[in-house]
Amino acid sequence: MKERVGVFGGTFDPVHVGHVTAAVDVRDALDLDRVLLVPAGEPWQKASRSVSERDMRVDMADLACADLVGIEVSRIEIDRDGPSVTADTLEALGAVDRELFLILGADAAANMSTWKRLPDTRLLCTVVVVTRDGETADPPGDDWKWEQVRVPRLDVSSSDLRDRIANGRPIDGLVPAPVVRFIYKNDLYTSA
Ligand code: ATP
Ligand code: MG
Repeated sequence: MKERVGVFGGTFDPVHVGHVTAAVDVRDALDLDRVLLVPAGEPWQKASRSVSERDMRVDMADLACADLVGIEVSRIEIDRDGPSVTADTLEALGAVDRELFLILGADAAANMSTWKRLPDTRLLCTVVVVTRDGETADPPGDDWKWEQVRVPRLDVSSSDLRDRIANGRPIDGLVPAPVVRFIYKNDLYTSA
């Protein structure tokens, strides 16, 4: 039997309960052995704003996953120079005895046509589109292997969290408690 591995990429700046819930629910729904959170090294689609240092984002993801069974953090994009391209990541994680499931929110899935190496991506994974209440997902394209997993709608985003912190508002409950402590200790996101 092949190992079934979920690959959940993102900037995770910071990681929040929406990410955690999606990872846990997809692992459960598709009976995956593991889900890897894969923080992007250089998120080329987010070049317009300054992203927190990569090690900070990995540390936060590690703290968020510490007590979760079957959810891990991969440094694969963090340790690679240059823009993060999903097909490169899938190739690096691939193995003959492993099946890869690329996990995306509906917003990220709708943006897939802009990706580099898209035809290769199709061959390397099954796409899993996570839909929140009220969202619908379309197949990524003809002949793609894909699944849809419904998850609870948790109306939280990293952008909103950064905005809250910059404005002195609380983030408790929206971010795992150890990550909240890390953010305050390192004085992250205090200037917008
Ligand atoms: P930002 O506001 O900076 O764009 P974000 O909250 O969207 O951050 P990302 O790191 O951009 O987080 O997202 C990583 C992945 O997590 C994407 O596939 C995105 O669709 C998904 N995602 C983001 N927020 C949620 C949420 N609340 N519930 C489920 N999935 C989410
Ligand atoms: Mg986003």
